[in-house]
Amino acid sequence: MPTRMSQLFLRTLRDDPADAELPSHRLLVRAGYIRRVSPGIYTWLPLGKQILDNVAAVVREEMNGIGAQEVQFPALLPREIYESSGRWTAYGDTLFRLADRKGAEHLLGPTHEEMFTLLVKSELSSYRDYPVTLYQIQTKYRDEARPRAGLLRGREFVMKDSYSFDLDDDGLQASYDAHRGAYQRIFSRLGLDYRIAFAVSGAMGGSASEEFLAPAEYGEDTFVQCANCDYTANTEAVEIRVPDPQDPSGHPASELLDTPNTPTIETLVDVVNERRDFTITAAETLKNVVLKTREPGGDWQLLIVGVPGDRDVDMKRLAGQLEPVEVEVADAELIKTAPDLVPGYIGPQRLAEWGVRYLVDPTVVPGSAWVTGANETGKHAADVVRGRDFEPTGEIGAVEIRDGDRCGRCGGELSIARGIEIGHVFQLGRKYADAFSLDAQGADGEPIRITMGSYGVGVSRAVAAVAEQTLDGSGLCWPASIAPYDIHIVPVGKGGEQLEVATKLAADLEAAGRKVLLDDRDASAGAKFADADLLGMPTIVVVGKALAEGNIEIKDRKSGERRAVPLSGAVAELS
Ligand code: ATP
Ligand code: MG
Repeated sequence: MPTRMSQLFLRTLRDDPADAELPSHRLLVRAGYIRRVSPGIYTWLPLGKQILDNVAAVVREEMNGIGAQEVQFPALLPREIYESSGRWTAYGDTLFRLADRKGAEHLLGPTHEEMFTLLVKSELSSYRDYPVTLYQIQTKYRDEARPRAGLLRGREFVMKDSYSFDLDDDGLQASYDAHRGAYQRIFSRLGLDYRIAFAVSGAMGGSASEEFLAPAEYGEDTFVQCANCDYTANTEAVEIRVPDPQDPSGHPASELLDTPNTPTIETLVDVVNERRDFTITAAETLKNVVLKTREPGGDWQLLIVGVPGDRDVDMKRLAGQLEPVEVEVADAELIKTAPDLVPGYIGPQRLAEWGVRYLVDPTVVPGSAWVTGANETGKHAADVVRGRDFEPTGEIGAVEIRDGDRCGRCGGELSIARGIEIGHVFQLGRKYADAFSLDAQGADGEPIRITMGSYGVGVSRAVAAVAEQTLDGSGLCWPASIAPYDIHIVPVGKGGEQLEVATKLAADLEAAGRKVLLDDRDASAGAKFADADLLGMPTIVVVGKALAEGNIEIKDRKSGERRAVPLSGAVAELS
C-alpha cells in the first residue's frame, strides 16, 4: 500500500526552528522528521523513524556479514559494574546517574564495554570458543557538555557498538580489519563521502585507532590530509614534520636578556630586536602556557605546555589526547600555588625542580635552543637548550595545526578540513579483559588473556551526516539506499483525473516493489512541489499538465533533471 500524505503523521514547517544551528538540523525539523524534546533529546516522527531504521538495517547487514552476532543489553545498569572498571568516576559529568527506590545507584549506559566483557566471561571458557564478535544497536546516554547540532551530538542517541574477542594480537588485527572493511561498505552504502583518519588511541597508547570522518563544513572534528601521500589524521592525532634533533652542546651558553615590559611574545620580539647584535622572530621564542588538568574525581593540577612562540596552543587537540583527564587554562588562584612562577616571564629552566609538570610540543626538538622567560620580571634568556638547560616531563602535540604544515610521513603539504565522526575502530587490547580477568583456557590448560577490539557507528548521527552532505537549497535529498520512500508522486491540477491516475500508478509501483508516497492532499501545486523537495525522496513523479499528452514527468531530486515519460511505460521505467 502506498502511503497517502493526507493520512501521514506529518506537518512540515515554513520557518526554521530557533535553536537550530546547522542546515541538516533545520531541515530535519522543518521536514517533519524529528522534533526536539530538550537539548540533545529528540523524538523521531514517522519519516525520521524510517530513515533511522533503514540506516540501522544497513549496519546490521554488514555486521552480520562479518560474522558478528547481535545482542541487546539494557541501557539501565547498576553502578557496581562500572565501579569495577573505574568508569563510574572516569566518565565524569558525562555519565547520567540515577538511583532506584531503595537508593541503589544506577547509570544510563554511555557505552557497554563492561557488559560485553562480563557476558563473554560468563558464557565462554575454552580457547575453542574464540574468536567471537558481538554487537548491539542501542540507545546510549551521555550528558554532553554542549549538545548542539541536533542529532549530531545528542544526549540520547543510537549507536551500533561491537566488540571483538580474540586469543592473540594477530586475531585482534584480523577482527579489526574485518570491521574496517564492514565500515567502508556501510558508509558507501549510506551514500556518505568519508575519510579514514588516524585517531588518538587515548590512555592505552600505541594501538591502532582510526576514525571514519564525513567531510562537512559544520563538522566538529578537524582533520588533515596530505597532498602527496595518503596520510589522513584527526588533528588531535596528527604528526607533523619536525626539525631534526640537534646537539645540545652545539649552542653558546645561555645568556640573560634585560627585557623590561615584555609579557607577550610580540613585545619580547620588538624589544630584543632593538638590540644591534641580536634579532629574533617569534618562531625562535619558546612560549610557556600555564594550564591545569584534572583526573576524573581528582583535583586541578598545574601543567605548563611549551610551544614555539609563533603558534597558539590548540586546547581541543590537547583535550582529545588527555581524555578522560580534563584540561583548561589555569586561573590566577591556582598559578599562585606555585609561587616561583612569574607570569609573562616563565621559562622551563627550573620547572622540574619546582615540581611543575612541563610538556613540550614535538617541534621543540631535543637540542633546540630558544629565547624564553628567565623566571624574573622583565627578564628573558637566550640559548636555552632542551637537554642542556631544561628537560621536559614529556611531549604532547599541542600546537595549532596550519594549512601548509608538513606531513610527518613524507613531508608533503597538509591541508585542514572539517568533518563529522561517523564511526570509530579501535584496538582496545586487554584493558577490560584485565579489569574483569577475562581468560580462555588454552589447549595446554593454561589461561590465555583475551584481547579486545571496540568499534562504534553513530547510527542516529549518520542520519544527520547524510542529510548534511546531501541537502541543497530546497531541502533534504536522500540517497536511495536509506530514503523513507523511493518515489514521491505529486498529482496536480483541477478535477479528479490526475489524482486517479496517480493513485493507480502508486499502487502499481508498490506492487512492483517500490515504496511510494502519494501526495493526495488538497493543496496547491506550489505547496506540494515545495514539500516534495523539502522531504527529499530520490524520485519525484508529477502527474499534471503533461497527462493531456499521455505523459507524466519524472524528476530526479538530486540533479533536478526532469523528463517526460509516457504513462503507459511509467511502471517499467520506475521499477
Ligand atoms: P565524539 O568525539 O564525537 O564525542 P566519541 O569519540 O566520544 O565521539 P565513541 O565513544 O567512539 O564516540 O562512539 C562511537 C560513535 O558514536 C562515534 O563515532 C559517533 O559517531 C557516535 N557518537 C558519539 N557520541 C555521540 C553523540 N553525543 N551523539 C550522537 N552520536 C554520537
Ligand atoms: Mg571516538
